[in-house]
Amino acid sequence: MLDIDTSKERLSQSLAQIHQASKDLEEASPQDIIRYAHDLLGEGLTVTCSFSDAVLAHVASSAVPGIEIVLLDTQFLFAETHWFALELRNKFNLNLRVLEPLVQSENLWQTNLEGCCAARKVEPLQRLLSEKTGWVTGVRRADTPSRNTTPVITYDIVRNVIKVNPLAAMSDDDISLYERIHELPEHPLVDKGYSSIGCWPCTRPVGSDEDKRSGRWAGQDKIECGLHV
Ligand code: SF4
Repeated sequence: MLDIDTSKERLSQSLAQIHQASKDLEEASPQDIIRYAHDLLGEGLTVTCSFSDAVLAHVASSAVPGIEIVLLDTQFLFAETHWFALELRNKFNLNLRVLEPLVQSENLWQTNLEGCCAARKVEPLQRLLSEKTGWVTGVRRADTPSRNTTPVITYDIVRNVIKVNPLAAMSDDDISLYERIHELPEHPLVDKGYSSIGCWPCTRPVGSDEDKRSGRWAGQDKIECGLHV
């Protein structure tokens, strides 16, 4: 267990301990990583989940029943994503919280992708994490080359939280195996060629020979929404 003061004001003073914990947990199971973070941070820990698959929601709720799981609702999510999140809430008894942006009617996705993500993803996350000390994500090293050094635990200097990536070391095959072992349902759009699922204006299906995230902001010079900096 990290020997640190987990008050929000003093998190930044424990970088060495957080780094050591990440190394110690490198071989731990995703559930054990979340339990560790929850033992450390308690109600200060939150999980954000895109609900493009069921793995993170299952891992988190089986590790810590009742843990807060947040869907950042940009208001441009596919109807199937909302449906899937509610299905998983009922199936796994999730403590699901849906967080909406402050903006309501702007259509920045047509003219300014960065501004749109800033208003509909980054600001709500910032608002959520301003009251938290730990943030669990579904980021994996296998997602993209830019994520291939993702640590299990790190300090997010922008949001002043301990960022926990319990799936960091899982390959695509590991994810598929986990889904089969636990008989997890699949997002309905996967069957239609969507391998990475975000907002409907910025997501298209991909072919079997394409990178699985190439359907996000296709044709644009953009690979991240700004949540994971
Ligand atoms: S992914 Fe597209 S629609 Fe969604 S918040 Fe970002 S720019 Fe807007």
